[in-house]
Amino acid sequence: MGEKRKKIPNEFLVVLALLFFEVLYFAFLTDWLDQWFVFRFHLPSIFIFSMTLMNVGISYYEYHGFGPQEGIVRSGRNHPYVALTFDDGPNPDFTNKILDILKEKEVKAAFFMVGKHIEKYPEVAKRVYAEGHDIGNHTYSHRDLVPATRRTVIKEVQKCDQAIERVLGIKTTLFRPPRGIISNNVRKLIVAMGFTIALWTVSALDWRGKSSKAMVRRIMLHANAGGVILFHDSGALLRTEGASRENTVEALPLVIDALKASGFEIVLLSKMIRELDLIEEDGIVEALGPPSTAGQEV
Ligand SMILES: [Zn+2]
Repeated sequence: MGEKRKKIPNEFLVVLALLFFEVLYFAFLTDWLDQWFVFRFHLPSIFIFSMTLMNVGISYYEYHGFGPQEGIVRSGRNHPYVALTFDDGPNPDFTNKILDILKEKEVKAAFFMVGKHIEKYPEVAKRVYAEGHDIGNHTYSHRDLVPATRRTVIKEVQKCDQAIERVLGIKTTLFRPPRGIISNNVRKLIVAMGFTIALWTVSALDWRGKSSKAMVRRIMLHANAGGVILFHDSGALLRTEGASRENTVEALPLVIDALKASGFEIVLLSKMIRELDLIEEDGIVEALGPPSTAGQEV
């Protein structure tokens, strides 16, 4: 928790610098005869070297421990959390079926909703919220934010925000750009508007019409601790809704069972973000672990 990932610890850099200095010194600056003599001059640096090494060892042990440690709940990369997310809804057919499955399996998920679908199907949106799922902003009309003017981006985000507020009476801080496409400027703008931009690590590729079996295989192949799985409860290739998500409905219980059987705990995306300290400095959540299929693949 709180540990900055990807950052090389300072201690490690100090050890590297000292090692480099020692190697250089003994290899080039001295000869075998006076090695013992000059050794004394290196005592302070050898002392710092070993203290640092010990320090690194202790902090590694403190954080990770050694061997299996059953019964210890550790938040961090080692915790096998995954989050399920559904984009483009709500939709009276598929969202309701998905909600039934989630309820039966006692699993919570995040729903990134399209503003105009919220206005069209307010009762479905209300049910999603009432059943304890995360609500995310997915723009008002599922417009690509790249290319788009600054004004369009603000309008798309705000209009969806207003729909959420009007229908559900809440303000969400989760945002997912349509198709996951975002530019640096759009990202800065949306972060400045107070959102956390949540992408995903594995797409079920349900929109491509994959069979439920193929979806389960794909997800289990790419699922990792901290993974965020993307499904669609509505949407269509060219319009914002209309495609069948029957395959998603069919795959969902199988995916949930397979994830649980593999030891994953399915949690709310908002919980995962809070507990695993996923928010990078620039406000984008890529989820933990190496994203296997992150990016534009919606
Ligand atoms: Zn979408």
